[in-house]
Amino acid sequence: MLYTCPRCHYTFVSADKPVICPDCGHRGPAPSTEVEFDRFYSARLDQLRGQCSPAMSVDERNWTKVLLYLNRPRASYFTTTFLQGHILDASPEIALDTYKSMRWEFVRLLSEEKEALVKEGVTEPEYMMRDRAGRPLVTGWDRFGGALRTLYTFETDDPHIVPGVDAVQAISLERITDNPSEAYITFIRAWLGLVTESSLRKAEPKGE
Ligand SMILES: [Zn+2]
Repeated sequence: MLYTCPRCHYTFVSADKPVICPDCGHRGPAPSTEVEFDRFYSARLDQLRGQCSPAMSVDERNWTKVLLYLNRPRASYFTTTFLQGHILDASPEIALDTYKSMRWEFVRLLSEEKEALVKEGVTEPEYMMRDRAGRPLVTGWDRFGGALRTLYTFETDDPHIVPGVDAVQAISLERITDNPSEAYITFIRAWLGLVTESSLRKAEPKGE
């Protein structure tokens, strides 16, 4: 189960009810709330991806951003099924079908968000700057939707070029399903492990 310290807000997994916080020594960590759980899950997922991504291909790095965006923040029953049944245990054909429908969904979200921007009078830039961490520096950024924000973090040959829908279409999903890198599979396994571990706190999967 997941517990959070009321004093320092450290969140951790523990099989038994912990007496003291392992981080600050405060007495009486309490079962984590939904918000604390989501924060913990999301941060761990970013960490896992960060560990695996240097050895992934550029396509895999961009694609995992899409996967995380579409499956965040909940560690749901659906996520388990998708990771286990449609990727790890599935044939490349089945995994490819799953990925293709996800790509379709992502592109659909992008066009919705682009339309919303136009309605608000926000124009997408032709070129952009990035900060030291590689994050896009774009005027009106807070009005951009989550899918567009994800797209803008894609790796491209020139970091100043704004990635378009063609960058999503250009990802070779065939390559990722037929011949994934070790690092990519390691990440998917670690993600599944995290979802399964997280589900300890809920007696029954809630579905969505
Ligand atoms: Zn603490």
